[in-house]
Amino acid sequence: MRKPLIAGNWKMNGSKELVESFGRAFTDIDLPSPLEVVIHPPFPYLDAAREAFANSAIELGAQTLNPLHSGARTGEVSGQMLKEFGVAYVLVGHSERRQLYREDDEQVYDRVIAALSVGIKPILCIGETLEERDAGRTEEVVLRQVGYVMARLEPEQRREMTLAYEPVWAIGTGRTATPEQAQQVMAAIRGYQAGFDRELAAGLRLLYGGSMNAANARELLAQQDIDGGLIGGASLKVDDFTAICQSA
Ligand code: PEP
Repeated sequence: MRKPLIAGNWKMNGSKELVESFGRAFTDIDLPSPLEVVIHPPFPYLDAAREAFANSAIELGAQTLNPLHSGARTGEVSGQMLKEFGVAYVLVGHSERRQLYREDDEQVYDRVIAALSVGIKPILCIGETLEERDAGRTEEVVLRQVGYVMARLEPEQRREMTLAYEPVWAIGTGRTATPEQAQQVMAAIRGYQAGFDRELAAGLRLLYGGSMNAANARELLAQQDIDGGLIGGASLKVDDFTAICQSA
């Protein structure tokens, strides 16, 4: 009942050539069905990606957005602008944004609202640091991040949300959460949501992110509450990303 989703976060990487090679590879490709595939390239490549992905299985994603529609915010990009370029999904609350750009839960919420207001689906990223895990605070931290946003949305807005659980200690480190560790947190998130709305919880898509690759994807994706992946490093290589999609 939950359609799997595999999303590639290129971060500040990629090139026009990479965009084109993904477009070629994902045209006429045999993918498991049902499956959604999204690539989040850096802003300057959105237009080229829209063209290159037009006849492919890939939908377009962005990596962030400003909460405002327009105005004096040098260097920022609004949801309205992303919408013009055919963006369907946007990452919000990625741990790199939370840590390096000091985005707190309130700013994350504002970005979610901005995306929803223009019809772009947010992928809300949440996850604990190693320090928080070692202190036994994983569920407390993750459920705070989830609750801060989800509890304030209208029911129809919640249905547009996808959540990506990404333990911070697993991002870009080569250290993946075990399938059991990931499943445990996913079950806690779904259970928390079920406390408010059982139907929503049953349909809510939960992605795992953190050093997912072609070798470990199948086992992670086989977990009961894992409905897809958010992939960083391994989404920069066509063959690796294709293999992950095939495992979904
Ligand atoms: C990410 O940046 O969302 C991510 C999961 O990165 P990586 O796959 O490289 O750990």
